[in-house]
Amino acid sequence: MKQLSRRTFLKLAGGATAAGFAMGSPAVLALRRFQPVAIGNRLEDYPSRDWEIVYRDQYGYDDSFTFVCSPNNTHACRLRAFTRNGIVTWIEQNFDSGNITDIEGNKVTAHWNPRGCEKGLSMDQRVYGTYRLQHPMIRQGWKQWADDGFPELTPENRDKYLFTDRGHDTFARVSWSN
Ligand code: SF4
Repeated sequence: MKQLSRRTFLKLAGGATAAGFAMGSPAVLALRRFQPVAIGNRLEDYPSRDWEIVYRDQYGYDDSFTFVCSPNNTHACRLRAFTRNGIVTWIEQNFDSGNITDIEGNKVTAHWNPRGCEKGLSMDQRVYGTYRLQHPMIRQGWKQWADDGFPELTPENRDKYLFTDRGHDTFARVSWSN
């Protein structure tokens, strides 16, 4: 196929556009329709505003609940999750530090507001993430050690049950009652 140089392409394109303007082609006529139109109140004259519902609805929710975020750190923030059709759609800080007490009546200071961080606010991605663990798993070597009756961890047994090479061990799925 013959290659067009950039210069030739621009020349041809310019010629086509000029011809379009001269002839009043449909494209040129369509462009002309974008000329300003005198409208008093745009919100009254706009032909359809249904699309705005999408924006209003994006934070709509059916229900919400509070929970304690504790992903292995010491903060244990109380957050609120919002759900739609049973799915958590977003999470936010609950802003009620100052009203919370523990089981012994100790009150939390209101100065903790706002409490929470991006990690907690993205917790729903962890819950619904592809790599979420959905079953209890045990390191295969450790399980074998347990199945064998927890023999003494001599240097040989540490090698045998992969205590010395845990990074290369596999995981075995077990039941919740194991
Ligand atoms: S919201 Fe952030 S700081 Fe609070 S417990 Fe969760 S991860 Fe930790």
